[in-house]
Amino acid sequence: MALTDVDVEYLARCVELAREALDAGDEPFGSILVDADGKTLFEDRNRVADGDATRHPEFAIAQWAAAHVPPVRRIRTTVYTSGEHCPMCAAAHAWVGLGRIVYATSSAQLSRWREEWGCPPSPVAALPITTVAPRLIADGPVPEYEDEMKSLYESRFRP
Ligand SMILES: [Zn+2]
Repeated sequence: MALTDVDVEYLARCVELAREALDAGDEPFGSILVDADGKTLFEDRNRVADGDATRHPEFAIAQWAAAHVPPVRRIRTTVYTSGEHCPMCAAAHAWVGLGRIVYATSSAQLSRWREEWGCPPSPVAALPITTVAPRLIADGPVPEYEDEMKSLYESRFRP
């Protein structure tokens, strides 16, 4: 699907959440769950700083949706996220049956930047969402947010 101005606006909140995470000493990732009427149902940011590396916002969204949104409505939601889902979150998203994903920066971009900064390799492969879950619709990256997200990542990840 093509990206719309509305998509770009929703992503602004994700970038804001990513910045909040960074300011709180966490990794800069933020995501929101939006229903078919455009209402934000749930939002979260990364919370891995306490030692649980699975506390990604996209995973929290999948768990929240499983508990609060009936399956027929889940498929009509959109998850906006500052960084493309990792394989764990892409799988959770697909298992729970959520709808479209829009990401500001891709896993490929983040991997390239981390390599450029000399970061140690990630323990999980940076696979595209659709490699993990081929039936998902995922759109991104969005050039408007590239510089801002790159600088947030750099603050956190550059050794
Ligand atoms: Zn993840």
